[in-house]
Amino acid sequence: MSAAEVTGERRAELAEALHAVRERIDAACASAGRDPSGVRMIAVTKTFPATDVAMLTDLGLTDFGENRDQEARRKVEELAGLRPDAAARWHMVGRLQRNKARSVVRWAAEVQSVDSPRLADALARAVASARDAGERAGPLDVLVQASLDADPGRGGCPLPELPALADTVAASGELALRGVMLVAPMEMDPGAAFDVLSRAWQRIRRDHPEATELSAGMSGDMEAAIRHGSTCVRVGTALLGGRRIASP
Ligand SMILES: *Cc1c(COP(=O)(O)O)cnc(C)c1O
Repeated sequence: MSAAEVTGERRAELAEALHAVRERIDAACASAGRDPSGVRMIAVTKTFPATDVAMLTDLGLTDFGENRDQEARRKVEELAGLRPDAAARWHMVGRLQRNKARSVVRWAAEVQSVDSPRLADALARAVASARDAGERAGPLDVLVQASLDADPGRGGCPLPELPALADTVAASGELALRGVMLVAPMEMDPGAAFDVLSRAWQRIRRDHPEATELSAGMSGDMEAAIRHGSTCVRVGTALLGGRRIASP
């Protein structure tokens, strides 16, 4: 196959996968009596090349998620070369070390994986210094990531500490609290996990009405998440295919 044929084939594959994911979201919304416009989709492009992101922007997607700073930074730059006019918004969805805060705020519009007051502080300082250096404008959108099982690999803030973390984020002039995020624990029924998260979200929204996002649901559990009120699904495998390289 020529390079053009390979590109054409990938484009068709992505278009078909996107169509199928949209159908799943629409069906889940229909059975939950929800409007599909209330569920946005983040394409989680970790381990996939910038050329895939470029094709997804051609298909109308605007929101992309990454879980590693270095990989994301490179991809954001490559996309700017491939599609200078694309309206792409990047989300950090993975575990974040405090020493990466300065780098992340240069490419991410939103960080969904804020799980400690110390990380929130580091990001706030990084936003201030990036702004002073003319490298970004405006506050950083933040979701606080909940953990239901304290698995250090997945990250997340223990549920009892989540409201205080939300308060810390909301009190920062450099960060804008947008909502809560969860990666459902492997060993838990996703419906039960999303139900617990949804209650925590509603509690936080009483104090912080601006926290309108419930980021829950991935390729395997988006239906359960939508049933429990998810406003944002993060889709990797179902859109882009299986990941060949393990992504830490
Ligand atoms: C990889 C990843 C996803 C996407 O997972 P899939 O099962 O491939 O859809 C969603 N959220 C986070 C935080 C991830 O790291």
